Amino acid sequence: MLQQTRVAAVIPYYQRFLERFPTPAALAAAEEPELLAMWAGLGYYSRARNLQKAAALVAETFPSDYAALLELPGVGTYTAAAVASIAFDQPHAAVDGNVRRVVARLTNDGLVDAGRVADELLDSKQPGRWNQAVMELGATVCLPREPLCEACPVAKWCAARLAGTQNELPLKRKKPEAEYLEKTLLIIRSKGRLLLVPGVRVAGFWDLPEPFKGVRVGAKLGEFKHTITHRHYRFLVFEGVASRIPADGCWFEEEDLGKLPLSTTAKKALRVRV
Ligand code: SF4
Repeated sequence: MLQQTRVAAVIPYYQRFLERFPTPAALAAAEEPELLAMWAGLGYYSRARNLQKAAALVAETFPSDYAALLELPGVGTYTAAAVASIAFDQPHAAVDGNVRRVVARLTNDGLVDAGRVADELLDSKQPGRWNQAVMELGATVCLPREPLCEACPVAKWCAARLAGTQNELPLKRKKPEAEYLEKTLLIIRSKGRLLLVPGVRVAGFWDLPEPFKGVRVGAKLGEFKHTITHRHYRFLVFEGVASRIPADGCWFEEEDLGKLPLSTTAKKALRVRV
């Protein structure tokens, strides 16, 4: 849940999630619509699906070595190394953004292979404590901007501090260019039901349809803006009347919408006013 997401935003989700799925077996048994509804708002839904797949695999026995942890869906080298070292004392350096920053500054090298250096520096007798110490150093002392070098316990070994380049490291990654897109969403109702289609922006969620063959676009109901990573959308919302519906479309009773994994864009569209 914490990947790309602030801790403060995650806490209520985490608590609700653990209440509803207190064990890996409970999570593994959940229906996907409920799982996605519990995750709605956190984004990056593949994480929820991977977490569920991993829960099914660890429900019986939790893997205790790095290679087996790495086999779990959604688990990459950082998570596998953190769990293997902290829970099972195995000598693997956990390299997150904090560690990458510390290593780039210690070596005064913006292009350094942080994983290799972190593995070389690792205290193999206490790998879990070592990993937590380096991560904590990055999170609390070797800050992205204005690192607290005066208070740093490794200052005398730090090449960037000696060279006075600590504020220039690590090198900034180029962000993807912003895209601005305009889309139309249609609110099509019939006999107390609403037409929905499988979402194209976020898989596993239902969304309002865009114009399709067999629909007459009616009055404009309003518009709203929505951003997904670097894509900035302007959604125009219209009424529609369908003489036939798309093959993957489904009618849903409006009173049941609360139980569905409904996309954020559909929720926003249903609230718009001209
Ligand atoms: S001396 Fe400064 S730049 Fe170097 S590791 Fe410590 S806090 Fe980071």
